[in-house]
Amino acid sequence: MNKAGFSGEPQHSSAASGDDIPAALRDTPDPKPKMRVQPLVLLIGGALTFVLLAVSSGFVFFILSPKRIANSQPSPTLSPTETPISNNSGESQTNNSDSILGHLAYTEAPESDLTVVSGRVRMRTAAAERFREMVRSARQSGVSLVPISGFRSVKEQEQLFFGVGAQRNQTPAERAALSAPPGHSEHHTGYAVDVGDGSVPATNLQANFDNTRAYKWLEANAARFGFEMSFPKDNAQGVSYEPWHWRFVGDRDSLETFYKAKNLKPKPSPTVAPESTP
Ligand SMILES: [Zn+2]
Repeated sequence: MNKAGFSGEPQHSSAASGDDIPAALRDTPDPKPKMRVQPLVLLIGGALTFVLLAVSSGFVFFILSPKRIANSQPSPTLSPTETPISNNSGESQTNNSDSILGHLAYTEAPESDLTVVSGRVRMRTAAAERFREMVRSARQSGVSLVPISGFRSVKEQEQLFFGVGAQRNQTPAERAALSAPPGHSEHHTGYAVDVGDGSVPATNLQANFDNTRAYKWLEANAARFGFEMSFPKDNAQGVSYEPWHWRFVGDRDSLETFYKAKNLKPKPSPTVAPESTP
């Protein structure tokens, strides 16, 4: 719309400069006696400039007014559709080039910083220590917290994502709602842990884990040990509700691991900006 308006402009201005040509008529009166001609030239020149000004301002009005209508019409209709998108923090997360299907990229914890929590479950040393403290504290309240899964390598996640996805006939998008793509699991960091209730193992990795005493205890006390739930209901990342999946955010490195990516400001919407600038 705007481009069409602009392309019309040169045509109008060339028409206006066409009006300029009659000023060359002044060359013909020139040879006549100077005393009488000069006021005439001034009169004609003045009249011409008046006409030119009137015509050109008319053109300016003509050119501008339809543009204002053209501009004002699409912008109110566009902005309501744009604003919900830019206000949705989930969308801004997925604008992050390091994310896949809502899952942010994470690097593997160094092998040297991994400690056994229980059985085959390993976590980063700082997180493991706090987790054991938490388990002891819960046990004193008669609650059994069981670590199901801690650190996972990118290779292990590959099997979980593609192998299990194929077994269950799931597309990557369907799979990503339940499991992170390799390279994008919080378990790579060594700070995340899936927790079960030792007295109700049937709820392991199930949404109804949130009915267990273990979950209720975690909800009330985990923050004291530096743990938080990664994917509560309606989380900004759009990952399905995982009441069993907790992450350590109790030291600087873990906090930066999870919150630096989150603090990325949403990119200004590329479609809104050009609309408002011209
Ligand atoms: Zn998990």
